[in-house]
Amino acid sequence: MSYIKINQDKCKSCYLCMDVCPKKLIKKSEKIGKTGQNVAEFIDTNNECLGCSQCALVCPDIAITEVVKE
Ligand code: SF4
Ligand code: SF4
Repeated sequence: MSYIKINQDKCKSCYLCMDVCPKKLIKKSEKIGKTGQNVAEFIDTNNECLGCSQCALVCPDIAITEVVKE
């Protein structure tokens, strides 16, 4: 089961990760981050994450701190 971890304290709410995820597993959370906007949240209820790292590679603030591919 692949997964990612997002450090929401680092997230600047640019949402690039949401656009790039082929499975659309990253959503806007309810939490407001450092730019005053909703931070990114990983939601994968059906275990669809590919562990492809595209989200982590596109994040300009290295807020996606871990990608585990299993
Ligand atoms: S590793 Fe790939 S599939 Fe998983 S959340 Fe990131 S972009 Fe989406
Ligand atoms: S790409 Fe990084 S900074 Fe931008 S919304 Fe996603 S986790 Fe946050």
